[in-house]
Amino acid sequence: IAYEEVRVKDAVLSTFKLVKQKAEQKQITMEFIEEEEVNIEADSGRLKQILANLIDNAVIYTQAGGNIVVTLKKKEEHAIISISDNGMGIPEDELNRIFERFYRVDKARSRNSGGTGLGLSIVKYLVENFNGTIAVQSKAGLGTTFTLTFPIRHF
Ligand code: ATP
Ligand code: MG
Repeated sequence: IAYEEVRVKDAVLSTFKLVKQKAEQKQITMEFIEEEEVNIEADSGRLKQILANLIDNAVIYTQAGGNIVVTLKKKEEHAIISISDNGMGIPEDELNRIFERFYRVDKARSRNSGGTGLGLSIVKYLVENFNGTIAVQSKAGLGTTFTLTFPIRHF
């Protein structure tokens, strides 16, 4: 993996472009809030892969007319990226399982939305490869927030 200086804003905006059509079809709005400009030492392709999976999920698991907000800020030499949606949310008793390979919440299975349940397990693997962390907060019926934390410099 090649590490380079990555402008997180650019990675987010180019990921928005990838899902733009899908979001527009569902009339889902996407917003980026850059509280602070942050660059990190990372592999930009991998970072985009992480963001694409999370933003794609947000579009899939949010009803028409919903919205997605990505925010970026800095905290003690870490970049903090959060991806929030106001979609279907994840029941509390399933929250700790969504990073498992092939795990899908029952509702997602029955909706037959075509996923494999691998996305988040790959995301978690990639995030940890960058010495990052991923956390999730969710309320069934209200929405979900994934929070990524990456060290700004790679050691
Ligand atoms: P794929 O492999 O195509 O990504 P998937 O989206 O089903 O399939 P994951 O991305 O790993 O798999 O997500 C696992 C499960 O977690 C999903 O099936 C869904 O039930 C739940 N989930 C993930 N993101 C969200 C979200 N933003 N809102 C609600 N549920 C979510
Ligand atoms: Mg997915």
